[in-house]
Amino acid sequence: MMVEDVSLDDSPLRDAPVLVARVRCGKGASRCSRCGRKAPRYDNGGGGRSWRHQDFGCFRVGLSGPVPRVECRLHGVVVSRVPWAEPGGRFTRDFGSECAWLMTVAGQKTVSGFLHIAWRTAGDIARRVAAGWSPRCRACSTGCMRSVWTRPAAGRATRTSPSSSTTGADA
Ligand SMILES: [Zn+2]
Repeated sequence: MMVEDVSLDDSPLRDAPVLVARVRCGKGASRCSRCGRKAPRYDNGGGGRSWRHQDFGCFRVGLSGPVPRVECRLHGVVVSRVPWAEPGGRFTRDFGSECAWLMTVAGQKTVSGFLHIAWRTAGDIARRVAAGWSPRCRACSTGCMRSVWTRPAAGRATRTSPSSSTTGADA
């Protein structure tokens, strides 16, 4: 991801100022957003798209930028894959992961208030993230929310279960 510039959108139409980062994909082959295969560029996508990202201090953060379309041999003309978001999603992957993790330790109403999103949206994001992680869940292989934090390949994942997190090692 290349960040071209960052500006503060303090429009009276917004309920809070938003840091908007204009981003674009780096140089390299475009890929189909559905299968991930390299595909030739079709056009510039007809305009920019925007995504909500994790907050930066007291500011909400948005990413915006062009997403070209590619012509995949299997899927036809589709939007190209971007590394920071799922195709068609309004939130970045990092935001979705944060939301899903928070849903494992707090209620949906608390999470929606903390992230400044609608209650229903918090649930939708968590379900989508959990569905994406479900093949990797080794604990129960049912797509439960715990699967987000039990994957061993992450390295940074620390929470495995409520019973193992009560050691108090850093007290
Ligand atoms: Zn494809």
